[in-house]
Amino acid sequence: FDLRNEDLKDLQELGQGNGGSVKKVEHIPSKMIMAKKIVLIDAKPSVRKQILRELHIMHDCHSPYIISFFGAFLSDPNICICMEFMDKGSLDGIYKRIGAIDIDVVGKVALAVLEGLTYLYDVHRIIHRGMDHVPLCAFTLTLDSSDIKPSNILFNSQGQIKICDFGVSGELINSIADTFVGTSTYMSPERIQGAQYTVKSDVWSLGISLIELALGRFPFSESDPDDSDLSDLEGTLSPNSIAIRPKEKDKNVKKDRRKSKGVSLQGGGMMMSILELLQHIVNEPAPRLTPEGRFPKEAEDFVDSCLFKDPDARKTPKDLLKHPWVEQARVSTFDLEAWASTF
Ligand code: ATP
Ligand code: MG
Repeated sequence: FDLRNEDLKDLQELGQGNGGSVKKVEHIPSKMIMAKKIVLIDAKPSVRKQILRELHIMHDCHSPYIISFFGAFLSDPNICICMEFMDKGSLDGIYKRIGAIDIDVVGKVALAVLEGLTYLYDVHRIIHRGMDHVPLCAFTLTLDSSDIKPSNILFNSQGQIKICDFGVSGELINSIADTFVGTSTYMSPERIQGAQYTVKSDVWSLGISLIELALGRFPFSESDPDDSDLSDLEGTLSPNSIAIRPKEKDKNVKKDRRKSKGVSLQGGGMMMSILELLQHIVNEPAPRLTPEGRFPKEAEDFVDSCLFKDPDARKTPKDLLKHPWVEQARVSTFDLEAWASTF
C-alpha cells in the first residue's frame, strides 16, 4: 500500500490515549477497514523521517499475535500509523463493559502475549525502545505508552488476541509531543528504580495486566489514598486518571522536562497517589491472584512467577511459554470466537 491521508475516510473515533487518538477508517481505493493512530510529535523533519524508517520494520512483523501494519505517513504535525482494525477493541474496554474476564480467556491472553513478545524478540530483536528518564523525588521515572497493558491487547470477533503499540521506534518514543502523559502503572520495580529496560519488564507488565483482567479491576487501586504527598508535584485530576509532572520551579527537573512526559495513574474506584503507588510497587509484595482458591493453582503460580520483584528471578516470555498454565491454554478447547459473540 501507498497510504495517503486523502484516501482515508474517518468512520468512527475508537479511543484516545495519552500519545494521540485512534480512528476507524476506510481506505477508499481498497475498501479496506483500518485503525489509524494519530500521534502528535514534537520533532524536526529529519527526525520525523527517521521515525518513518524505524516504523518500516513493522512491515516485516507477521505473527498471529501481533497487529498487522499497513503503513505510516506524516501529516503535519502528526504521524499516522495505519494498522489492522480489531472490532472488539482492547481488553480494558471489554472488562469495563462485561466485568471480570473468565480465567480461561485470561489464559489465552497470557499465551498470545507471550507468543507475541517471543516473536518480536526472537525474530526482530525488538525489546521496547530506549529510555526516558526524569529524576523525580526519590525515583527515576521512565515512561512510555508502549507497555504491555490491557489497552494494548486487542481482540476481534474471530477470537484472535493481538498486541499493539510495542515500541519499534525509539525516535518516535522520544518525540511524542510534550503534552504526552504516559500511564506508568504497569511499570516493573526495576524500571521505577531506573534500571535498563529488558524483556523481563514486559513479563511484569503482563502479570499486572492478567490480574486486572481476572479481577475486573486494576490491582493497585484499593489502597487508602489519604496520606498522599503530592506537594512537590503539580497535578491534574480527571475521572479515572491523575496526571502529574514536576513543578516548573524545580530547575533540575525542568531541564529534563522535555524528555519527561509526566506520569499518570489509572484505576477504577479509589486512587493512590503516584508516589504511594511507585513506592508500593518497589517496597511491598507484588499483587497476586486472590482470594486464594478462586482461580486455578496453575494460574496463581503463573502470575506469581511474572511478578517476581527481582528481574533475575523472573523468567523470559520464551521460558514462560512452557509453564503448565500456558500449555493448558494452548490445548484448551475454550471457544474464543463463541465467547466474542456474547458481547
Ligand atoms: P496510552 O496512550 O496510555 O497507551 P491507550 O493504549 O488507551 O493508552 P491508544 O493507543 O491511543 O491509547 O488507543 C486508544 C484506544 O483505541 C485503545 O484503548 C483501543 O480501545 C483503541 N484501539 C487502538 N488500536 C486499535 C485497533 N487496531 N483496533 C481497534 N481499536 C483500537
Ligand atoms: Mg495503546
